Amino acid sequence: MTGEDRFARERLVPGWDPEAFSRATAVVVGLGALGNEAAKNLALAGIGRLVLCDPDTVEATNLSRSVLFGPHDVGRSKTEAAAEALRRLSNSVVVESRAHDLAAGVGLGELASADVVLSCLDSLRSRMRLLGRCALVEAPLVDGATGPWEGEIRLRLDTQEACYGCTLTAHQRSSADVPWSCLDDTTAGPLGTSIATTALVAAWMTQAALRSVLGMRPPYRMVRIETLTGRSEPVLMTRAPDCPHHRPIQGDITPCPLNNRATAGELTATMPPGDEPLTWSRFPLSPRCRACHPYTEAVGDRPAAGSLVSRCDRCGRGLRPRFSNRLRDAAPKARLAELGVPPQEILPVRRPRGDYTWHRLSS
Ligand SMILES: [Zn+2]
Ligand SMILES: [Zn+2]
Repeated sequence: MTGEDRFARERLVPGWDPEAFSRATAVVVGLGALGNEAAKNLALAGIGRLVLCDPDTVEATNLSRSVLFGPHDVGRSKTEAAAEALRRLSNSVVVESRAHDLAAGVGLGELASADVVLSCLDSLRSRMRLLGRCALVEAPLVDGATGPWEGEIRLRLDTQEACYGCTLTAHQRSSADVPWSCLDDTTAGPLGTSIATTALVAAWMTQAALRSVLGMRPPYRMVRIETLTGRSEPVLMTRAPDCPHHRPIQGDITPCPLNNRATAGELTATMPPGDEPLTWSRFPLSPRCRACHPYTEAVGDRPAAGSLVSRCDRCGRGLRPRFSNRLRDAAPKARLAELGVPPQEILPVRRPRGDYTWHRLSS
């Protein structure tokens, strides 16, 4: 069967463009039930390249809502299992599997180049992290959330528009990693949901993503879908002045010849001595005893209370883990990927005057 035959019905849909879809890249973050359903829809619709990001493995409780997983996949990487199933659905789709946390799996440069990013996450903290990363590079984002009999989608297509973060309080925006759904932002734990609401929300997300890829951006930015009342309606979001997700990276982004397989030493060697290349997420350093090395500069944030991991060889004091986001603190032989730097990341470099330059790693 030729590609033309495959999309014969879609070509009858006004505005549908299989060629535009085949050239497009969609990033799907979160391969739980919603990510399964959304990735399936995008592959069937003919999106040419899918980047799947999720650090988790398939669990038995995923199987009742995840079209891409079977019982034999339990224990496997979600992104690997999903990639395999998607290639069976479409022999033309290119699928890349990133079995990492969202900040270590997909670089800012990749988000910037993507035609659309789908947020299929189940915690407020992860949602806000992805929203923040997309906002930095102005990547079009479609976020979905499911409740027991209802759901929501939120679009973030333009820096100047109200975003989902604007609808939250400052406390919620800085929230810890609590389970969360669209209707309950307390820490009560995950709400029940089903394949029915998952499929509905994923369908809305897909429709919004495809329209966005086609350059026909939907007029709404948030839709609430209620199956009990039979209502689905747009919800107006208002821009909050204190929402931090409206300040994209300013200034030139310099292409860096190195990629994330390079070492920290190789990267810092390309920088003038006063320039401080940073990572967006902190990486662990080997613990060092404050008593035996009293002049050691305290690096990074305070460690969590009680997070003692080992004891000093010399004095026996408990050692606390240390973290940093300065690449000059990392072991020179550590690869950037090992430090949690994703492919095509855009690294901030703090200059002696306190301003920043931006360096985009190559692929
Ligand atoms: Zn906002
Ligand atoms: Zn010591």
